[in-house]
Amino acid sequence: MKDEQVKFKTYLQILIGLTIAVFVAELAYVIADEAFNWDENTVFFVALRNSCFIPTLINSAIIGVEYTLLGNPNIKLKYREMFTYLGIIVMTVSLCMFHIAHLEMCCAFPITVLASAVYGKREHVKIAFMASLAGIFSVFAVRFIRLLSEEDNESIDVVFVTVTFFICLTMLVASFVVSELIRKTIEHASHEMSYQLDTQANLKEKTRIDGMTGLYNHSAFYELLSREMKAADREGRPLTIAIADIDNFKSVNDTYGHSNGDEVLITLSEIFRKTCDGYLVCRYGGEEFGVIFPGLKTKEAAEYMQKALETIREVNFEWCDHPITFSCGVSRFYDIRISPEQYFMQADRYLYKAKYSGKNKVVTDLDPAE
Ligand code: GH3
Ligand code: MG
Ligand code: MG
Repeated sequence: MKDEQVKFKTYLQILIGLTIAVFVAELAYVIADEAFNWDENTVFFVALRNSCFIPTLINSAIIGVEYTLLGNPNIKLKYREMFTYLGIIVMTVSLCMFHIAHLEMCCAFPITVLASAVYGKREHVKIAFMASLAGIFSVFAVRFIRLLSEEDNESIDVVFVTVTFFICLTMLVASFVVSELIRKTIEHASHEMSYQLDTQANLKEKTRIDGMTGLYNHSAFYELLSREMKAADREGRPLTIAIADIDNFKSVNDTYGHSNGDEVLITLSEIFRKTCDGYLVCRYGGEEFGVIFPGLKTKEAAEYMQKALETIREVNFEWCDHPITFSCGVSRFYDIRISPEQYFMQADRYLYKAKYSGKNKVVTDLDPAE
């Protein structure tokens, strides 16, 4: 939205610059004409009025209207974009009506059609084309009426105006064709770009996911942990992590085979995903899991892990004659100076306490004061 405002502001600045430049050039021409008497028929004040003041007055009024419309956020962006080139068309029509070199001014119409292609929408190009067509017809209609009403009109003038009319029409049609080409090229390029961005985003997401369990992988764990540590620090909210490791998993593999071991990993991942829904569950590596609990204190996070432990204990793997359990360490983030790796080690210490004190349990950093 901010970009659009900058675009509109630039557009208005260009219009103001052009209006001033045209005014100065016309003024210089009218004064020079008076001084050197290039055209004997020119009356100084009429030329001054018709070439300088009336067009500049109309241009300034159009700029004023455009300024009000383009700066109004209540008007839909689509319409505000439309005003940019419709403004130029109105300006061109007014110049063509009043200016002594009015027919030459018609070359501004195709420029408007080309400018509308910038928005990359067919509707814009069509509107600019139709409005320019109406502009050219009205300018030449007025010119023909004036010409035919002159008593001493010469047939060469009629031929000249007719030829100019057809040249303008041809230029307008050509500008429409070129605009469509530009528009299609822009459209194609933007489709291509969004496809590339989607593919890149998908690829990046894939590199963050563990293939077997569908959980975040080791590198994603650290990336997420780093992000959450910064957020917790910035927003002053709690953050806790839990590190879980399956008990005696080597013997499960050795006794029942690796594919049964894999089944345990997948089942436990599903349990973590369900129990810790809304939190960041990761497969840290092998048979170790890390869960990040943004916004939770140790006690609350430990309750989630306890629930997961009770659930896996209850699962009856038909090929296994004992329940599968895990040990878990839970620790809150206190010290903002530590790195994610150091924070992991801090939680890992409680995991080791759980292992060395009999496994199949959740050990936390809770002290009686908390
Ligand atoms: P502890 O209770 O002390 O954790 O003992 P443990 O046997 O679980 O620990 P250890 O580190 O000795 O064994 C981990 C095992 O996890 C060894 C390895 O074969 C197994 N493992 C790691 N990744 C996979 C995997 O993707 N699939 C299977 N089936 N096993 C895996
Ligand atoms: Mg292990
Ligand atoms: Mg283990």
